[in-house]
Amino acid sequence: MVMKRKKIKSLIESGAIGSQVKVSGWVRSFRNDRFIAINDGSCIKTMQIVIESEKLSPNLLTQITVGSAVTVSGQVVESQGRGQTIEIHADDIQVIGHAETEAVSKTILQPKRHSLETLREQAHLRFRTNTFGAVFRIRHHLAFAIHKFFNDRGFFYLHAPIITGSDAEGAGEMFKVTSMDLKSIPKNDVGEVDFSEDFFGKETHLTVSGQLEAELGALGLGQVYTFGPTFRAENSNTSRHLAEFWMIEPEIAFADLEDDMDLGEEFLKYCVEYILQNCKEDIEFLENRSVQEDKGKPQAERNELTLTERMGLIVNNQFERITYTKAIEVLENSKPYKKKKFKFPIEWGKDLASEHERYLVEKHYKKPVIIYNYPASIKAFYMRNNDDNKTVAAMDVLFPGIGEIIGGSQREERLDVLKQKCMEFDIPEEHVWWYLETRKFGTVPHAGFGLGFERLVMFCTGMTNIRDVIPFPRTPKNAEF
Ligand code: ATP
Ligand code: MN
Repeated sequence: MVMKRKKIKSLIESGAIGSQVKVSGWVRSFRNDRFIAINDGSCIKTMQIVIESEKLSPNLLTQITVGSAVTVSGQVVESQGRGQTIEIHADDIQVIGHAETEAVSKTILQPKRHSLETLREQAHLRFRTNTFGAVFRIRHHLAFAIHKFFNDRGFFYLHAPIITGSDAEGAGEMFKVTSMDLKSIPKNDVGEVDFSEDFFGKETHLTVSGQLEAELGALGLGQVYTFGPTFRAENSNTSRHLAEFWMIEPEIAFADLEDDMDLGEEFLKYCVEYILQNCKEDIEFLENRSVQEDKGKPQAERNELTLTERMGLIVNNQFERITYTKAIEVLENSKPYKKKKFKFPIEWGKDLASEHERYLVEKHYKKPVIIYNYPASIKAFYMRNNDDNKTVAAMDVLFPGIGEIIGGSQREERLDVLKQKCMEFDIPEEHVWWYLETRKFGTVPHAGFGLGFERLVMFCTGMTNIRDVIPFPRTPKNAEF
């Protein structure tokens, strides 16, 4: 009988003492010609394999090196050693893929502490490390939790296009999409690029947001969400920005700003709680990791709370909801403002800087904060005008350590007001005619928000650079892997 391969995770969970099993994985360590620790990616733990070296040919023994892939058959036995509850006493070992020790020593597969920078340079191998195993398992579970949250509440998953012909969103610099020969670009009489010759017959870009499309979906399907890649060609080399990142954008019909805030809060609590419940071992590992990392940092940069404490802050608190006007008031009365500690000015009508947002969340309220009713001038054209004619029904959710994690709003559903806004924002109506049309045929109040997926993964893993929570980061001058 051919035995089926078992995952290490399920073996550890089921105990299975006494049974004959087959496992496959990569060698993490090999001690005393007798103990092999293998990891198969299914969980952070390794399985200890015990071998009687007399049973193995000397040739096979030299093939079992750190980094090699092996398949082991044997019996599950209660472990006498520390650090594991069960181990496998091997009857047979096969080396599936050998790793040269000399070559391994030059890579991050060599078992020792590597800096995150070094790990990033070997992004093709970093899935084999404990840190990135944990991060990408959590990333997966978060994605699953998001789909589950929406599905359980009757939302439909809408696939917004990645190539877009609309440039109305105004959310940032866009990447151009073209199939033109860059060596001989067709030009018109006045020397401008003739996009009618291009693949789509018009200028196209990679999307910066699926929101406008999601609105069309919501105005028929009732409740939808997008979850897909979005692109920003901003040349900002920060630890919170990527050129390619994933965004989740729910959109709900027959809803106002308060419904939107309720949805955002319930959604974030659900996701964080899901990870606390389902990723305990990985969280524990990452928590220890960031405690270690903190020890090397100056006091001021260390985390006051541990990773699980920070996550608990989300789950166990009602988010503070304050207007933008109130936020400005709080900031103007704050110690750092009076002592001139803020780098950026605070003034009604100006965008809040990250230092201001973090002060409100981490120092003043000590819990997540939702700021709503922003000045119209600093927000997008599609956000609904409030009656004061100064502010719009926008809201941002701010998280400790992250700053803005969600940006959302009630949308302007009144055709005349929306047309007026297009004019004020210099958006030609013919560019968004299909968007405006939805306000002619059974328009309804509706609202939605955008969540940067990687920012949520950062929050749930304690990783402080966004490049370390996406498998293959794209940033200025970097698209190697
Ligand atoms: P920020 O002020 O942080 O640059 P933004 O105001 O440009 O963000 P939005 O256009 O409101 O962001 O996008 C919605 C969400 O997408 C943000 O709340 C954030 O979580 C995320 N986000 C925005 N830009 C990026 C980026 N370059 N990389 C990763 N996530 C991003
Ligand atoms: Mn924003």
